Order: sequence, then C-alpha cells, then structure tokens
Amino acid sequence: MNVDVNVIEMIRELSDAPGASGFEDAVVAVAREYARPIGEMEEDFLRNLYIRRKENRGGRPVVMIDAHSDEVGLIIHSIKPNGTLRFLQLGSWNKASLPGTKVLVRNALGEYVPGIIAAKPVHFMSAAEKANPGQDIDSLVIDIGAVSAQDAVENFHIRMGEPVVPDTKFHYDEAHDLMFGKGFDCRVGCAAALEALRRLEGRELPCDVVCVLSTQEEMGPRNSKVTVHRVKPDIAIVMEGCPADDTFTEPYAIQTALKKGPMFRHIDVSSLCAPRYQRWALDLAAKKGIPVQESVRAGGGNNAASIQTALTGAPSIVCGIPVRYCHTPNCISSYFDFEAAVQMVIALLENITPDMIATL
Ligand SMILES: [Zn+2]
Repeated sequence: MNVDVNVIEMIRELSDAPGASGFEDAVVAVAREYARPIGEMEEDFLRNLYIRRKENRGGRPVVMIDAHSDEVGLIIHSIKPNGTLRFLQLGSWNKASLPGTKVLVRNALGEYVPGIIAAKPVHFMSAAEKANPGQDIDSLVIDIGAVSAQDAVENFHIRMGEPVVPDTKFHYDEAHDLMFGKGFDCRVGCAAALEALRRLEGRELPCDVVCVLSTQEEMGPRNSKVTVHRVKPDIAIVMEGCPADDTFTEPYAIQTALKKGPMFRHIDVSSLCAPRYQRWALDLAAKKGIPVQESVRAGGGNNAASIQTALTGAPSIVCGIPVRYCHTPNCISSYFDFEAAVQMVIALLENITPDMIATL
C-alpha cells in the first residue's frame, strides 16, 4: 500500500478533533488548514464550511461535494447529587458499546475533561444483572471522578448542554493497512473530499465545484437544507463513512466490506440515489479500474435525501468509505478504500460535463 503520510496526518487530525453534532468547531478548524490551497472558504452560523475551487469561473454547472463534519456524540443533561453526569444522545449510538467507554466532556472553560461512561462492577451485580448486563441508555451516567454535584460544578466546571465525545485516539497500522479511530463517519469522507480537491489543484475541470463540510448530519439530514441554497448545485456527490457489514452478514449478502473500495448506495431509508447517475458512476468506475461496491439498504440515511429534493433538485450519489463499527467509540477503516474513494471523486469530477448532466 502506497500511503501518503501527510494524508494519514490529515485523517488523524480530523478524526481526533472533537465534533459532536452542533459542536464541530475543532473539526472545521482542522479542515480549514487543509482546504487553504483549494480555494475560497466561507462559513455560515451553523458552521457549514463552503470551499469553492479557485479554478471555478461561473456560468457553468455546479457540482456540490457534501461531507458531514459532525460525529455522533452525547450532551450533558444534568448533574446527579453524587457528581455523576446524565446525558442524552446526539445522533444514534449502538448503546451496548457505551458502558466502559472513555469520554471527553467539554466544560464551561471550553476544556475537554476526561471521564468514563460508568459500568457497574460485576461485584455489585445481581444474578439477573450478570445474565443480562444491558442497561437502558437513560440509566447510564458519565463519571468524571467528582464526589458531589458541587465538586463537578466548582472544580470540574461541568454544565448542562455541553458536548461529549469518545476519548479515542487515531492509530494507523501500516503493516495491515488499518486505520483505528473515532468518528470515521464521516471524517474519512471529509478527508477524501479535501484530498481529491488538493490533487486537482490547478487542473481544468468541465464544471465548477463547491465542497461543503456540513454540520449536524447525525441529527437527521437537516443542515444540507441550508447549504443547497448557498451552493445551488446542479448535481451532487455525497461522501460518507458508511457502515461495513462484512463481520456479521452472510457472505452472499455482504455489500460493504473492508478493502473492496467505496460503496455506492442505490437506496436507503432517506433517499433513492438518482438511478441513471448511479449507473453512470458504476460504469465509470469499471472503465477506470477503480474498485467499488454497491448496496441496497433497509436502514440508514444521509444528506443526499435533502440535496436531491431541494430547490429544483440535484441528482445525487453517495460515495461511502467502509467503516466497521460506525456509531460506536471505535471504528476501523482502510487506506485502500480511502484512496479508491479519492480516485473516484477525481474521476467523477473530470467526467461530469454539461452534456452528461443533460442525460440524467
Ligand atoms: Zn455519516
């Protein structure tokens, strides 16, 4: 695997940055550094970041590349008398993955305080609890080590409404080409979009391109309802870090495996990707020899839903980099899939012409 250490570093910084839905500031700050050579940047109050290629010249179709900068997180609900913290979800977690997780809780000073999602020690469990240790998420608490509510407020500066993210650090295992970290949904998608545009710097393309790192996607595809008004796309590519199914699905039904290339999704709960555009993209991948996968999903959703049906409608496809254990504190992805996604974005942008759009 030919790995660019600078790109690994970008993925590391994007993955490690705390960015629970609605609190994406640190992720946007990292993205801005890497996007600087690409072109002009603009931000709205929702922290949606718009990156316009400096080679754009107007008067021709606009391709929107969307990738969401947020990750599933938690938000502080209240402080219990014993100093532990109740929370709600920002987005949808696999609840079974939460107990025992190390987390970082933002405090009133803007610092991230370490804590643990409390798991009851086996010593105190009844026989019934041992047999079925699953807890309702409402009964879980975060323990930062405070001894009382007063201690949590006065000495840890904890307050209601602050975000929480997993305390998971990115690691790249070069020997096996495996990336470990948090928030790969959709930080690997953000990184692939930025890397594709960096490689295209100075190159003439048949269309104008605006990349949007959109916020709060995990709360439902809501902020792309705003971004489309600023971009007014004619066509869109939605980047994702999408759930891999290859560790728990019968072989015949595996649709998103690690190290088989990015996944292009025909349908999910939120949208049906433009069928003729989807078929054109799959044919283009075959022609270019870029490995890709296809999926038909009974669950999930993404920003294609709102981009496709906003304004006068922009045909959209979803290019998802496989992520094992999405929406848990620890994800696995491969650079192989990341690289194939970058190559696909470049191939798409080189071939989306006004004539091609007219055939959709
Ligand atoms: Zn996502």
